[in-house]
Amino acid sequence: MPLQILLNGAKGRMGQVIASVAGEMNATIYAGLDAGDDLSASISRCEVIIDFSSPGATAQVLELAQLHHKPVVLGTTGHTPAEKEHLRSMAAKIPCVWAGNFSVGVNLLFALTQRAAGILGADYDAEVVEMHHRFKKDAPSGTAARLLDIILEERQLTATALRHGRAGLTGERSPTEVGVHALRGGDVVGDHTVIFAALGERVELTHKASDRAIFARGALRAAHWIIGQPPGLYDMQDVLGLK
Ligand code: NAD
Repeated sequence: MPLQILLNGAKGRMGQVIASVAGEMNATIYAGLDAGDDLSASISRCEVIIDFSSPGATAQVLELAQLHHKPVVLGTTGHTPAEKEHLRSMAAKIPCVWAGNFSVGVNLLFALTQRAAGILGADYDAEVVEMHHRFKKDAPSGTAARLLDIILEERQLTATALRHGRAGLTGERSPTEVGVHALRGGDVVGDHTVIFAALGERVELTHKASDRAIFARGALRAAHWIIGQPPGLYDMQDVLGLK
């Protein structure tokens, strides 16, 4: 019996790709909802909710999931840090996989970035560059935000160390700053590069997504995995066994 999925954001780019690969992943979209539809009317018969919509929808999705005891796979990005903190505590009350990026390759990039930041140390200036299609509404991407968190954590820095782009007379680069640059254009599905630059050498770790199906397959893999898990907030590293 295919996994019965309620898909929120069904008319969007990701929603459409998830629907197109669901069959090959032993899943079926029994309800595909979008802005203006009533989530509460269709939630009771699904096995799992997959949400790739907009940040404003997340709180309601989590509230209804808790009320109806349904697990959630959450792919939406673009929340503020304060929103994220509030939503994390809501998500932890149900079984929830929340990932800024569901691709296997990017999750490997997370692991490699942590390793590189630890080995290379503070003498290597860290910068993150991402590029996405012209329609993307938030910046930097959820994936870039996660890469930055990994670097900050590894170097015991806080978000005040982040430099979002540079302009004007910025002065010399401070050794503790971590730069982040968001490029937008065309139909780029998602590129991320982490640069560690010292005097004399530079290490660059790059991932390039060329097909949204990688995120869709990852989200569907997470949907199968979350069934039967105890309440808690999980990420793709848990699903892939990378922890
Ligand atoms: P999109 O703009 O193409 O689609 C979003 C869809 O959600 C639209 O159809 C819109 O009408 C709908 N929507 C908006 N508000 C809603 C609401 N309150 N309830 C229900 N539906 C609502 O965007 P997209 O490229 O499909 O991306 C959607 C989200 O997923 C974004 O936050 C994006 O950054 C994120 N994303 C995450 C990953 C990942 O791997 N985690 C990958 C790609 C995109």
